[in-house]
Amino acid sequence: MIKIIDINFQGYKSAVACFLIKSETNLILVETGPSNSYSQIEKKILELGEDVNKIKHVFVTHIHLDHSGGAWRFAKNGATIYVHPKGASHLENPEKLINSATMIYGDKMDMLWGKVDKIDSKQIYSVRDNELIKVDNYKFKALYTPGHASHHIAWKLNNVIFTGDVAGAKIKNGPVMPACPPPDINLELWEKSIKIIEKEKPTKLYLTHFGEHHNIKDHFEKLRKTLKLWFDWIKKNELKYKNNEILTYKFNDYVLGEIKKENISEELINQYFAANPPYMSVAGIKRYWKKKHENK
Ligand SMILES: [Zn+2]
Repeated sequence: MIKIIDINFQGYKSAVACFLIKSETNLILVETGPSNSYSQIEKKILELGEDVNKIKHVFVTHIHLDHSGGAWRFAKNGATIYVHPKGASHLENPEKLINSATMIYGDKMDMLWGKVDKIDSKQIYSVRDNELIKVDNYKFKALYTPGHASHHIAWKLNNVIFTGDVAGAKIKNGPVMPACPPPDINLELWEKSIKIIEKEKPTKLYLTHFGEHHNIKDHFEKLRKTLKLWFDWIKKNELKYKNNEILTYKFNDYVLGEIKKENISEELINQYFAANPPYMSVAGIKRYWKKKHENK
């Protein structure tokens, strides 16, 4: 049984999810949202007739704050957090993570994410690639899937995969949109990771942004196409608009134009921009091209 929990991120529906799974004797959570969503998660889990304090296993895809900013709250209830080794040290000592997030979000940090606290190392489990974590009769397989973040894991459970951000965002009938924040964006690794997921032949993807999606072939085709368009757009236009603010403004406009072609509601557009504000991607993609240029 997988239940999608809508954390109502910043008041927006269907922008950020976490997933509750009930095994024989355990409650398991995949993703946690930011810490300021904890009471919302608690409430929704209560509505499902369950107790948030009984969650003792938490699987996170990566340590961006919309995915695991609230992990420490669950650790305080005694949960073990399963994470990529590169993410583990940041959960234990979040100062560096907070500093780099502050560079992106500035004075919006607290409003967006709430408090970020450290987690005792005894409650953090660093997972190897392809390692199987057994909880009762459920086996979670860790698929290292960098590209969006160097420490990204997609979690496979039976024939479904929780894709974090490596499969991009797709909300309802909207388009597939990647998120490309700094500092790790890598187009080549991202493509390899998509292939890793395809090779597992999942029947469903569970996206943190947002929910359950079945049409996997079409999904990845669209993700690949949009990634290429975005990376090409930045490469071309960063020469034209040398001022970062103007470049960001123009990119935002470009993304908005592309989304509007899909004929989706204003409300859905707002949900996309809450889950995945395009301005983040400008710095991430610029950094990718810069590194690539320097390595030539
Ligand atoms: Zn992310």
